[in-house]
Amino acid sequence: MLEIDGSQGEGGGQILRSSLALAMVTGQAVHLTRIRAGRKRPGLMPARLMAVTAAAQISAAQAEGAVLGSRELTFQPTAVSGGDYSFRIGTAGSTSLVLQTVLPALLCADSPSTLRIEGGTHNPMAPPFEFLQRVYLPLINRLGPRVETQLERPGFFPAGGGLIQVTVEPAGSLKPLTLRERGELRDRRVQAIVAQLPEHIGRRECQTLTRHLRWPDEVAQVVSLRDSTGSGNALLAELSFEYVTEVFVEFGERGKPAERVARQLARQVQRYLEYDAPIGEHLADQLLLPLAIGAGQGTGGGVFRTLALTDHSKTHIEIIRRFLNVGISVIDAADDDVLIEIRGE
Ligand code: AMP
Repeated sequence: MLEIDGSQGEGGGQILRSSLALAMVTGQAVHLTRIRAGRKRPGLMPARLMAVTAAAQISAAQAEGAVLGSRELTFQPTAVSGGDYSFRIGTAGSTSLVLQTVLPALLCADSPSTLRIEGGTHNPMAPPFEFLQRVYLPLINRLGPRVETQLERPGFFPAGGGLIQVTVEPAGSLKPLTLRERGELRDRRVQAIVAQLPEHIGRRECQTLTRHLRWPDEVAQVVSLRDSTGSGNALLAELSFEYVTEVFVEFGERGKPAERVARQLARQVQRYLEYDAPIGEHLADQLLLPLAIGAGQGTGGGVFRTLALTDHSKTHIEIIRRFLNVGISVIDAADDDVLIEIRGE
């Protein structure tokens, strides 16, 4: 049984999620200790517990220690089965992160799947739905599988109540991916989602953001929702290049002026535009796992250029290396860029 210390490196939920995903893909049992020791509320909080329950369900696994607050878990998967699954987080915990736990195994399953995941769709510290749909899944599809998702209902922190639907057509083995350049800019869009809050919040965010970025007003749109479970506000900017799309997000909060939300997002977008590496820091983190799984199968892997790696990604690489016999090289390119090369050993 593989021993994984959940407090290593960055000590967050990624260690748990990727360990589950890799246990299922490789069929190896894993014993995790000190789960999320680096976080304010350590252990298996609701969304993490749902990730474990979902993983156990799709892989008919035995999971010991899968209870709320647990800091230790033994997970023994058997065979992964595609099928129709419904996962209800019950809080505003991130639906994207639950999906990313089970998706790698379902991409390589023998039969297709449909998933219904209820919880948060627009959470701080997690990929927002638009990132999943427009950034992450199109790249997964370039590896061979066909994955599509729809937002049935948005769910914001703290009320949750969002719902995403996902269909997965597996590919057997994953193809390689090379992403060294962005290519030319094709489209840029701004969306301010305001759920049960005054619409002027969204209008002020759009105005401030487009002014800071010197983008025309027409690229921005306010989406005003009246029937969501709770209130919330997310400001999103999407940049579509020839070879990659990136989405950046900031969240409104009580007491935080709309203009500040917009200025923070403008800084994220400007930082990305200043460099010319195609892959932003979150996407880099999330591409490591599917490319490494492909490399482990001997069919995939790949190369991508990104900004200097975060501690989160460095920890992620260490976890991947524990499960898979793959080479992951981090090669200094120009300025702050690095090239990540992932290949089978
Ligand atoms: P953890 O903090 O270990 O639970 O991991 C959080 C995950 O969410 C990482 O894969 C991050 O890359 C991802 N993430 C956090 N914020 C964003 C964001 N704004 N856009 C896309 N992904 C994000």
